[in-house]
Parts: sequence; C-alpha cells; structure tokens
Amino acid sequence: MIKNFSADYILPVSGEPIRNGVVSINEAGEIIGIYENAYALELQGQTVEYHQGTIVPGFVNSHCHLELSHLHQKISKGAGLIAFIESIIGSKRVVEDDLVQEAMEKADQMMFENGIVAVGDICNTANSKKIKESSALYYHSYIELFGFNPEKVDELFDTGLAVKDEFGSLPTSIVPHAPYSVSKDLFRHLRHFCRDNDNVLTIHNQESDEENKFYRYKSGEFVGFYERMQFDIEFFKPQARDSIQSIVPLLSKKQKVLLVHNTYTSLKDISFVNRLDRNITWCFCPNANLYIENRLPKLDIFVANGLKMSLGTDSLASNDKLCMLSELKTISKHFPSISLDTSIAWATLNGAMHLGIDRKFGSLEVGKRPGLNLITAMDGLNLTEASAVSKLV
Ligand SMILES: [Zn+2]
Repeated sequence: MIKNFSADYILPVSGEPIRNGVVSINEAGEIIGIYENAYALELQGQTVEYHQGTIVPGFVNSHCHLELSHLHQKISKGAGLIAFIESIIGSKRVVEDDLVQEAMEKADQMMFENGIVAVGDICNTANSKKIKESSALYYHSYIELFGFNPEKVDELFDTGLAVKDEFGSLPTSIVPHAPYSVSKDLFRHLRHFCRDNDNVLTIHNQESDEENKFYRYKSGEFVGFYERMQFDIEFFKPQARDSIQSIVPLLSKKQKVLLVHNTYTSLKDISFVNRLDRNITWCFCPNANLYIENRLPKLDIFVANGLKMSLGTDSLASNDKLCMLSELKTISKHFPSISLDTSIAWATLNGAMHLGIDRKFGSLEVGKRPGLNLITAMDGLNLTEASAVSKLV
C-alpha cells in the first residue's frame, strides 16, 4: 500500500525545503514520489497524512561506541579527556558480559526509536556482532587499533584483523584510535593495508588540547598519563605542530577519512589539511564534548570554509542519550545562526556518503529507502527546546 506524508516542511537534504510538500512511500519503505503539494494526489482520490512539523530522512549516526553502553551515567561530567579515558580503562576490567549485551541492546533500541537508521560504530572487540546481525539499523563497525609501542605493530594489527574476521560478512574496516595512541609505524602499516583493501577510515581528532600540547612540545597531561600507564614514550619526538598536521599525511589517500570531535582544531589546522589531497568529513559530537571537556568545537569556522561535516552521538559513556536530534538542538542553541536547513545534512546525507550507503540512506529521493522522521515543535526551519522526533517510516 502506498502512503503519502505531508508536513509544514519536507527537507529532502538533496534539494531545497518544500513547504507543505508530500512524500510517497511504498510498502517496502521506498520513496516513489516527492510532490510540491497534495493537490494532484487528492484529485486521484489518494489519502494524505498531514503532520505539523518537518519531515526529514532517517538519521545517520557517524560516531558511536555501542560497546561502552553499560557505562551510561557511570562517568562524571566535565573532568576532561584524560580522566575520562582512565575511567574507561578502569571500568573495562569489572563487567559481566550479560550486562554489556543488555546495555547494547537497549542502546540499539534507543537509536531506533530516535529515528537513527545507520551507525558508524567503533569496536575494540566483536562483542556487538550478535546485536548488529539482528538490528533494524545498518551498522558499519570500525575495528579500532590502539598501540603506541612501535615494537608491537604486527601483533596489534593481527589482533585487529582477528576481530574483523569475527565480524564475518558484516561491514567493517580497520582504523586508528587517536593521534596519541597509535605509533607512526602502526599508521604506516595501516596505510599499506588501505592500498589493497576497501577500508573507510576514521580517527578521533583533537578532542582535548592536551593532544596538541603532547604533539607540539611533548608536554601536558598525556605525559603523566603514559607514566601512570607505564608506557615508555622515549621514542616519541615533539613535532612542533598540532597533532592533526602530523597525522593526516600518514593516512591513505585512497580511503575516505572521518575526523571525529575536532574540538581544538584551529583555522590554521583546517588550512593545512585543505592543502592535502584527502577526502575528509569532519564529524562532531557536541553533547559528548560538553560532557567530557565542557567545550564545543568552533563549528562556525568549518561552515565558513564550506567543509563536509557530519554528526555523531559518541557513546552512552559520554552522553545522556543516543539521539541525533538532541545533537542538532545543542548546535542550534549554541550556534543560533545555523538553521536545520544547514545542519540536517550533517545528521543524514554526509554521514551516509562517508559510509558509502547514500544510494539507500541520507536524503529524500525517489528510489531510496532512507526512513522518514517527523520533527515537531519547530519555529519555521529552526529547532526549539521543545522539538521532538518520531519515526513515520
Ligand atoms: Zn569516540
């Protein structure tokens, strides 16, 4: 049966907003028509379901860690990235598998209910495999490599490949964790791997200013962190520039790259990266940034430079919920000049393009099956505190 949905606005993302437009969907959830108004359909005797609010495609969550879902409300807010990492490391040793599975199931369900249809999910194990196999959501699992010790490169890489194997036919790729936790040699190894494999990349970037201090001068809180972890960092030489400027040149030119957080990325860093020949999407997780560092990235400079941007929720360890609308609302509150008309692409199409799933997801176009969300309590094309999301399809 065909269903026709109309609302105050339709935001196709791939085109201009349509006031009082209509989206028609068949039984399989495929879009079979998008119309300027309901007039022609009603003339044909078709019924049209009218809603107050704005219809947008299903959301694509560019950055999540399903594995950390059991840490919901376990980690204190505003303590900074290093305290956060130490809490995560400390908590990993004392959890029962059943609790981890249960928390992941709930997180998957929460994302579904909040209108998320696809997720780029960071994994250190294959713990989430069962949930992903049966989920209504599309998942791409990024198998994350950690390791600053240059002598252990082969071993670390083999561990990553073993996790990838465990995921079987589910979509995966092998990725570096962060500039402060991956050695140059491991980056090099990964670049070789990227030459011969389809391996979409992501890396946490400049989530804390301590990362820049460490790269620039080998100083700041990371030095003490490595001491406490008993990591020997003798081999690391200060680079006299921000982490991103040292790291991006080490990444494969062949693969798309998603840089996540960018909380302490400067205009100078952006200019540097723009000169490199890389296909980069800049991913932001505003609620997690507020949770961990109580600070937001300078989104306006990314917008002014016309960069490709996307959004993620990060994990329940650093967010009260997994909800893309909530991320969009935070942006709208702190950057009132950015309307939903601009930011909607970050929550949908840009994330889908990075994952290579934009034939199906990310925009309202005939032939796609992107899911349909209704956002209510809008002020024109701006979100309000009261805005809420529900799934139409
Ligand atoms: Zn993350």
